[in-house]
Amino acid sequence: MRVAIAGAGLAGLSCAKYLIDAGHTPIVLESRDVLGGLVAAWKDDDGDWYETGLHAFFGAYPNMLQLMAELGIEDRLQWKQHTLIFNQPDKPGVLSRFDVPDIPAPFNVIVSILRNNDMLTWEQKIRFAIGLTPAIVRGQKYVEDMDKYSMNEWLRRQGIDEKVSTDVFIAASKALTFINPDEVSSTILLTALNRFLQERYGSKIAFLDGSPTERLCQPIVDYITAGGGEVHLKKPLKEIQLHEDGSVKSFVIRGLDGAPDEVITADAYVSAMSVDVMKVLTPPAWKAMPFFQKLDGLEGVPVINLHLWFDRKLTDIDQLLFSRSELLSVYADMSVTCKEYADPDRSMLELVLAPAKDWIDKSDDEIIAATMKDLERLFPQHFGTENPAKLRKFKVVKTPRSVYTATPGRQAYRPDQITPIPNFFLSGSYTMQRYLGSMEGAVLSGKLTAQALVNSQWLSDLPHSTNDSTSTSQQPQPMASL
Ligand SMILES: Cc1cc2nc3c(=O)[nH]c(=O)nc-3n(C[C@H](O)[C@H](O)[C@H](O)COP(=O)(O)OP(=O)(O)OC[C@H]3O[C@@H](n4cnc5c(N)ncnc54)[C@H](O)[C@@H]3O)c2cc1C
Repeated sequence: MRVAIAGAGLAGLSCAKYLIDAGHTPIVLESRDVLGGLVAAWKDDDGDWYETGLHAFFGAYPNMLQLMAELGIEDRLQWKQHTLIFNQPDKPGVLSRFDVPDIPAPFNVIVSILRNNDMLTWEQKIRFAIGLTPAIVRGQKYVEDMDKYSMNEWLRRQGIDEKVSTDVFIAASKALTFINPDEVSSTILLTALNRFLQERYGSKIAFLDGSPTERLCQPIVDYITAGGGEVHLKKPLKEIQLHEDGSVKSFVIRGLDGAPDEVITADAYVSAMSVDVMKVLTPPAWKAMPFFQKLDGLEGVPVINLHLWFDRKLTDIDQLLFSRSELLSVYADMSVTCKEYADPDRSMLELVLAPAKDWIDKSDDEIIAATMKDLERLFPQHFGTENPAKLRKFKVVKTPRSVYTATPGRQAYRPDQITPIPNFFLSGSYTMQRYLGSMEGAVLSGKLTAQALVNSQWLSDLPHSTNDSTSTSQQPQPMASL
């Protein structure tokens, strides 16, 4: 079976990889000249990398870890000490750590919380633990039902101190969803908490040893092409053409630089584009269908990724840090945390600015000036002193619409990978899967899409296939359930 996939983010690439494993022929068509979508990265004129986002991998990412193991690249993850580190807004430069001991879950996380006395009092810890009990005991169904409440509403209903929100959940909410806890669905943070409480190494963090484009996406592409599939850059999907019965007839690819448009036909078609692009490209004939109408309930959230190169070393901390500032979310000194970005003498801070809705239209200079002010609090020993650290250069990467905005009630709008159109499927971290808008969610969604395609009765009943059977050495295989 020949499958045309629009989008070479992690979802599209994962879908193609698992179709290859099942003996099929994916053709991936990516609009940009770079792989990876939200994990895309580029090199500047000095040979320094800059990225769409600072990306942390978690122990609770089973599908990502499995994919990397299948590609033989799991050693590219640089696992850090099992600890979560927070800045303290009222104590500039002082850090608060949740060191997670190497004992079974959930005791490891509980011990780390009990041992930390900087952020929560004992009374707050006890009330927090009691409030959390239903989420742990009643499982994912309860967690899904809580999608009607924002995190702050849920905390209030559980009688949990507002300070837990300002101290812990602002950091977690901004890091996971790029919005604040008064806006975020409680389902998101409770899902993440549950994973961390149920898996011994769930909250353990790893960084990739280089750029995601080269070190993660390219090996997936190599695997796809070695298996007879194709991945093409600069091939933007312009239109989804339909047969009279409403099924997909072809993908029309916009010709760039004066080239004519191209028509791609296949046995099945996948959109692995972001939900915002899919909404624009939904054919008029599908717009009245409730399935596609639901997509209007989803929208990408703005976020900004900053790179600041300094003339000296600011820290030797080899870990992700939660800034707990109003402007910034998480950050890391990539000259320490990432092998390929290593510099023994000078720091490169990568920082996520979120929520970014008030900043996305501001100039790079304004954004950097505000960030430098924040750094005085994060690194008081290096800024606002007689000999402050000098900013050598910076790069600002704005994404006006990134992962879907995870406000209350959004779970009901997240679509299945299977659509009412028998030869058309969806993939992407916004589609329904249990790992939210994350790299893990993208990889899992791609796998689920491949599984749905392979097991589709409609496709297996096709009288003829456009599959070139010489292009793959394997016979098509059914895929097991996940
Ligand atoms: C700043 C930032 C930080 C993040 N940090 C983390 C983190 O620490 N951990 C984590 O797990 N996740 C993180 N994420 C989220 C993670 O990057 C995403 O959830 C994941 O990469 C989404 O993958 P996707 O394939 O679903 O979508 P996308 O990456 O959006 O892929 C969609 C692809 O479709 C392509 N496309 C669009 N239009 C067309 C068209 N017309 N024709 C063809 N192709 C088209 C796009 O160019 C893109 O390549 C972060 C994201 C950002 C932005």
